[in-house]
Amino acid sequence: MNVSVVLFTADLRLHDHPPLRAALDGTRNVVPLFVRDRGVDRAGYAAPNRLAFLADCLRDLDAGLRERGGRLVLRSGDLVEEVCKVVTEADADEVHMAADVSAYAHRREERLRRALEADGRRLHVHDTVTTALTPGAVTPASSDHFAVFTPYFRQWSQARLRDALGPPRTIRVPEGVGSEELPSRAGLTGVSEGLAEGGEVLGRKLVSAWLRRGVARYEDRHDDLAGDATSRLSPHLHFGTLSPVELVHRARRAGGPGAEAFVRQLAWRDFHRQVLAARPAASGADYRTKHDRWRTERTAREDIEAWREGRTGYPIVDAAMRQLRYEGWMHNRGRLLAASFLAKTLYVDWRVGARHFLGLLVDGDVANNQLNWQWMAGTGTDTRPNRVLNPVTQGKRYDPDGAYVHHWVPELEALRAPLVHEPWKLAEPDRAALDYPDPIVGLSEGLTRFRRARGRED
Ligand code: FAD
Repeated sequence: MNVSVVLFTADLRLHDHPPLRAALDGTRNVVPLFVRDRGVDRAGYAAPNRLAFLADCLRDLDAGLRERGGRLVLRSGDLVEEVCKVVTEADADEVHMAADVSAYAHRREERLRRALEADGRRLHVHDTVTTALTPGAVTPASSDHFAVFTPYFRQWSQARLRDALGPPRTIRVPEGVGSEELPSRAGLTGVSEGLAEGGEVLGRKLVSAWLRRGVARYEDRHDDLAGDATSRLSPHLHFGTLSPVELVHRARRAGGPGAEAFVRQLAWRDFHRQVLAARPAASGADYRTKHDRWRTERTAREDIEAWREGRTGYPIVDAAMRQLRYEGWMHNRGRLLAASFLAKTLYVDWRVGARHFLGLLVDGDVANNQLNWQWMAGTGTDTRPNRVLNPVTQGKRYDPDGAYVHHWVPELEALRAPLVHEPWKLAEPDRAALDYPDPIVGLSEGLTRFRRARGRED
């Protein structure tokens, strides 16, 4: 065989890349290809923060390929049409790509397979590129997927992962396959000011630093909002600049309770992927409906706007929402609190919140975002679907000295903890002098509405 195309999607790296390895093993020439898929744009997934991070990743991937004698070919348009054009131009025999889990990805893969086969070429789809374990590799006796995390994790932990692959030494790209110019951040508008940079080189540096210095304290500190003591690797996992398989191996080698807790979170990522792979409709429909009659953009417009802008009057929720806007990323505890507040305290449709998150999150991901939203809304896999997080007690617990609120809500800078988490308790005239809104809803009012809606009076 002479030429293979390697189609990069959510796997923008050279280390531990099974499609690339398989292509290089079978052929002399390889076309590394990325297609900016218009279908993804049309589906509303092309948020400026992710486009900016993607631009960094593509430039970094191209640089890595050039160091090895190759280059990245970039095309834009319908993914299937563009791949077929490149295959014809390069006279390639086969295409290698990573498996993915969303309904859209499945349809796209099937279309591509048919188009290639009609032309006498082959598509090879590789597992364990974007997940540590293949969705469906472990299943309960009575179902095609796990609906509860703990038993999933038990089996996930016992499954044997494949070994991680090294990066290729050299890559030869055939002449005559043209590429569009690689994108850059410069031309993009609407990018968050504090957005992190992308790319495999940076991702690998982050991992090394994290495993050397951060992970040991992860178990104790991952919920400390101001401590910022999580890995911040989520955008790299989303774009695949890091391999989940390699990351699990490296974390296990680091060892200790911190690394174990971290690996457990990586299993959560696989867990949501195996749910979505088995139930693709869960990206938009309740996984386990509670027959909610949610408030919506039409019936709760002002509340939703206050939530989006970080002006709900609940400091910890507002801090989290402002972090999201400024960084395009939010601490996990903040995500939980912001989601609980919208879906339960305000009783607004989780899809409204999920959409807003996807518009800003640099790691915004169909499986993780939609299924975490469903988990918090009580329509997903949470075994306690009616739990409501209290933003005041959670604030006091996870931001005990108020440093996270002070950072993101400077209007409250002068307030000490615990008052910073309940500024409405400030005596007049100091309360009136604060440039900060009163709570848009009382917590007990919100709780009563939610419990009634769910048919629970307790
Ligand atoms: P760490 O704590 O360092 O964890 C390491 C990795 O484990 C993360 O990078 C992530 O890949 C994975 N992980 C951690 N927690 C979870 C989880 N609950 N579910 C699945 N995987 C997890 N994560 C996304 O990657 N994309 C999203 O769009 C997304 N949306 C979310 C929406 C809501 C409402 C909630 C509650 C959570 C969401 N998460 C999402 C999960 C989690 O909040 C982020 O993965 C995490 O905060 C990223 O920060 P980190 O890399 O420092 O995480």
